[in-house]
Amino acid sequence: MMEAEEIKPWLFQVEPLEGESISHFLGRFRLANDLTPSGLGQAAGLGGAIARWEKFRFNPPPSRQQLESLAVVVGVDTDRLEKMLPPAGVGMKMEPIRLCGACYGESPCHKIEWQFKETGGCGRHNLTLLSECPNCGARFKVPALWVDGWCHRCFTPFAEMVEHQKRI
Ligand SMILES: [Zn+2]
Ligand SMILES: [Zn+2]
Repeated sequence: MMEAEEIKPWLFQVEPLEGESISHFLGRFRLANDLTPSGLGQAAGLGGAIARWEKFRFNPPPSRQQLESLAVVVGVDTDRLEKMLPPAGVGMKMEPIRLCGACYGESPCHKIEWQFKETGGCGRHNLTLLSECPNCGARFKVPALWVDGWCHRCFTPFAEMVEHQKRI
């Protein structure tokens, strides 16, 4: 099998983080490579799909073939990309975008499981999830835009928001 870097030698690769959502991963990859959603869509032959996936719009769900095309461009295994998506039959909440500040402090990424309808809190820390900034009330942006790791309105770091999460 040909290595991805042999095919797209001009692109920087980004290592996926544990549990990372596709939106967050695509945002990091685009930032590292100075690509817009449509630019990446074009490079992968996926048209507007990148922009939809970054908003967790999975209707229709990403096909295996689409993920294979994306895998070549981002240099990440197709199976690994599938783990950034909801498993078959699991409902997604597109809004609000949710966050566990404790998780973010350990590994700075948005986790796909926070957007599952069935997820009631963080099972790792036994804490409720935040659905807005506890300091200013701003809704979180889509994770593809979580460049700085803080609230876009009041600049409270995501990791510090753990103080406002309740035990469950
Ligand atoms: Zn957590
Ligand atoms: Zn805020």
